[in-house]
Amino acid sequence: MGSFKTLDDIGDVTGKKVLVRVDLNVPMSDGAVADDTRIRAAMPTIRELSDKGAIVLLLAHFGRPKGAKNPTQSLSLVIDGVADVLGHSVMFIPDCIGDGAKAGVAVLAGGDVAVLENTRFHPGEEKNDPAFADALAEVGDLYVNDAFSAAHRAHGSTEGIAHRLPAFAGRAMEAELKALDAALGNPAHPVAAVVGGAKVSTKIDVLQNLVGQVDHLIIGGGMANTFLAARGVDVGKSLCEHDLVETANAIFDAADKAGCTIHLPYDVVVAKEFAPNPPTRTVNVHEVAADEMILDVGPAAVEALADVLKNCRTLVWNGPLGAFETPPFDAATVALAKTAAALTREGSLISVAGGGDTVAALHHAGVADDFTFVSTAGGAFLEWMEGKPLPGVDALKA
Ligand code: ADP
Ligand code: MG
Repeated sequence: MGSFKTLDDIGDVTGKKVLVRVDLNVPMSDGAVADDTRIRAAMPTIRELSDKGAIVLLLAHFGRPKGAKNPTQSLSLVIDGVADVLGHSVMFIPDCIGDGAKAGVAVLAGGDVAVLENTRFHPGEEKNDPAFADALAEVGDLYVNDAFSAAHRAHGSTEGIAHRLPAFAGRAMEAELKALDAALGNPAHPVAAVVGGAKVSTKIDVLQNLVGQVDHLIIGGGMANTFLAARGVDVGKSLCEHDLVETANAIFDAADKAGCTIHLPYDVVVAKEFAPNPPTRTVNVHEVAADEMILDVGPAAVEALADVLKNCRTLVWNGPLGAFETPPFDAATVALAKTAAALTREGSLISVAGGGDTVAALHHAGVADDFTFVSTAGGAFLEWMEGKPLPGVDALKA
């Protein structure tokens, strides 16, 4: 994985100004924080530094103000939410650079926690402008990045600043990187990947990267239809990207060369309409009628996939196997997720999952807590699955 420093390496922080990049891009409703998951994720790092006497200065973006001040995207709106989770007061500093920031920081004492205004109010943030990164670095003595979810972007507060101050991974970042390393960086083989979701087109890079890394690639969801079509299956009215059949064939070829077994469903659940609890049929993939849609993987295939997982040591999962929001097309996703959870509890499988709908599906199956690690990082998780470098992480290793 390449080595990075953590809070274990940070040394004495008493009275030091520590700039901590966190994810405070929380959903709001009626002017209040609607979901504090991201705030809670940053707490171990914030508490640890505060308890050790650091002046904790939180850096974050909020919304997309595109380089200009916008009161509706001020981080002052999340102060109460942060204070609620922390259990004591939090200061707000109305700028993240310059005299406005420095004056606010000057009145703080060791142990204090403050939120600095939205980094994206400055155009230099998203441009990763060296002058902006210099100005950020002037506000603190040390830098901690605890926002894996922003690490796929080379911005001033995620990348530039890490080259200007001693830089460390926070606890949430550390946990995420360790889990991802155990899943794809340096995994125990055999490794299985489940890739599902609606479309091949959104996950071509994921599939191409995975065939070179994993021993078993399980393809489900709408995107399996394109692979089935490439194999000559008539998928009827199913969601299918016929223009990507060549891409699917290239992925089959790459898998062959790399010794990766691709698993496609051989039975499927079909319906004539996409609505809750319509009449359905469970059929062999060669028996889909012209007016039917494939909406889930069938039970026989799920059983075979469970056997694949039983023989694997590592699982990485992105994308549901079926249209899981609409019953009964959640059945395959729920069943395979439960198998993965049970194997994880038994200690025979390391399971790492991510993706907005995937996380929702695992919660729906009631097994999110049983997986070894569930990433809520969204775009950064997907770029990691694509094998792309993550600038915010690489800067910590430099
Ligand atoms: P994630 O957010 O975890 O990365 P995606 O956004 O790629 O996952 O895919 C999730 C979507 O794929 C869900 O909305 C689900 O309904 C849809 N989906 C899965 N299987 C099918 C299918 N057979 N036909 C149509 N849509 C599907
Ligand atoms: Mg999604």
